[in-house]
Amino acid sequence: VTFQTRDGGLDYVWATSWGVSTRLIGALIMTHSDDRGLVLPPKLASTEVVIIPIFKNKNKTEVIGYAHGLFDRLKSEFSVEINDDEQNSPGWKFAEAELQGIPLRIEAGPRDMSNKQAVLVRRDTGEKLTVPVQEVEAKIKELLEDIQNRLFYRALTFRKQNTHQINDYNTFRDFFKTGEGFVESGWCGNPECETRIKNETKATIRVLPFGRNEDEKGSCIFCGEKAKELAVFAKAY
Ligand SMILES: [Zn+2]
Repeated sequence: VTFQTRDGGLDYVWATSWGVSTRLIGALIMTHSDDRGLVLPPKLASTEVVIIPIFKNKNKTEVIGYAHGLFDRLKSEFSVEINDDEQNSPGWKFAEAELQGIPLRIEAGPRDMSNKQAVLVRRDTGEKLTVPVQEVEAKIKELLEDIQNRLFYRALTFRKQNTHQINDYNTFRDFFKTGEGFVESGWCGNPECETRIKNETKATIRVLPFGRNEDEKGSCIFCGEKAKELAVFAKAY
């Protein structure tokens, strides 16, 4: 990207390159979601909480009013929506909110109204909690944090379980014949080693992680020279 300078010339802009693209969104979906739809980490969810009033014709006005009261309590602190349309059933709205990956849903029916409470339902575990109205804000905060952490550590554990440390080439080659996942091995930094590994195993370097100490790097998985990097190898599918 270039721009016109004051003196009429052309210059390049200073740009960051985060590589944030559809690929990253794909990874987000694949990492956290389930068969009911998206599961979004609260920090990335555009809507954190959806309120769904559960009403019949005879109590419609009161219950919707109660739900709006909850909405007004929460709207300054959270990204919250209310779904009070009369076209679809509560069950339909629950399923829609799950499909959209909204981290928390609040169900508010006539019984909740008379008990001055709300039912909070987690998207990640489906767990339901009945909470007195005056504790709703604190509980939402706590749950959003817990959902965020749980999703993160579950993903981290999965990655660790699927990352294998291999330091001899025969094992490395055998692994990629049948194995799935990541392999951490030393690499001397020579592109020729990388190319030959790719030709023989179809595995390529995915990332060179920061912050590894020298002992961890060992020697190049292919040529045996001192490794400059600890590389993460995987096959693309
Ligand atoms: Zn090498």
